Amino acid sequence: MQQIQEFYPQLDIPKKVVITSHQKPDGDAMGSSLGLYHFLVQLGHSVTVISPTNWADFLDWMPGIKNVIDFERFRDKSIAIINEAEIIFCLDFNILHRTKHMEQYLAAANCTKILIDHHQQPQEEAFTYGISNTYKSSTCEMVYDFIVESHHPDKISLDVATCLYTGVMTDTGSFRFPSTTASVHKMIAHLKELGLQHTPIHDNIYDNFLEDRLRFIGHALSNRMEVLYEYNTALMYIPKADLVKYNIKTGDTEGLVNYLLTIQGMKLGAIVIDRDEERKWSFRSKGSFDVNTFARTHFEGGGHANAAGGRSSDNIETTVNKFKQVIKQYESQLQ
Ligand code: 5GP
Ligand code: MN
Repeated sequence: MQQIQEFYPQLDIPKKVVITSHQKPDGDAMGSSLGLYHFLVQLGHSVTVISPTNWADFLDWMPGIKNVIDFERFRDKSIAIINEAEIIFCLDFNILHRTKHMEQYLAAANCTKILIDHHQQPQEEAFTYGISNTYKSSTCEMVYDFIVESHHPDKISLDVATCLYTGVMTDTGSFRFPSTTASVHKMIAHLKELGLQHTPIHDNIYDNFLEDRLRFIGHALSNRMEVLYEYNTALMYIPKADLVKYNIKTGDTEGLVNYLLTIQGMKLGAIVIDRDEERKWSFRSKGSFDVNTFARTHFEGGGHANAAGGRSSDNIETTVNKFKQVIKQYESQLQ
């Protein structure tokens, strides 16, 4: 993978561009994809954003999202666009299999591939150019840097600003996590000077759910949480029946894991959700407990030191029991 700066001279030559991110894109994945989309369109590129899967309804207000293609719904069309692409941007993931069924088509595409990402251990050999910086708050911050460093700050339109703010806000826990550096605040100050309205973005993302979801959270906190005080760990497991009963959709469970760390003294929060094709884990930690390594070692996953995910093909009881067993190895680290 060559340095992303080597690619800058090619930015001004209009090309057929595809932008993609990880499956079930979150605010940062969708924000960085659409922020980059609005930027590249202004430079005259012909740009298509393809999401590997569907996304949460609370992202549907984002400028440009109506043009995003869901690979799983429009597979043939997506494959044709990928095969025609001259440049593919891969945002907010480190490893091609995070794009699920798109992986094989991205791997086979014979074009320039560019990575912009902040996850650990990137699959560098898969990309022509790229930047991977695990100290960055978000991929949206990195797309902002990309625009500014390639000498196009004048192309930060309100749409670009709105999309990029969204991902910085969601990936920093609303400017709270240690990744919220002075550079993040300077970036946001710049976006504000350009006219960004931030309050509607917070409302659209965080205050935009149905009653069912709040009742589901109440149920999960009351009935599906275990606190393992000896390991300073809180665990939650959501069986399929709960998802059906409360009509839970993509995105409705996002953020649930964060409640676990609101209990005094907790160092590790873990939640597993019984999805159709797999049991999906989310891990969050405070302090030095490294959930990226934990997820990689035990649950086929990865991510960041304090926020990671994983999966299991076991049933939910089996994977929960496995968690309770493996956590014993970490007793001293969690105390
Ligand atoms: P979440 O728990 O919100 O799904 O994910 C937390 C962080 O870990 C995100 O940055 C996400 O991209 C990453 N992540 C989630 N699941 C996986 C996984 O299975 N593999 C890897 N490498 N990263 C993941
Ligand atoms: Mn991110």
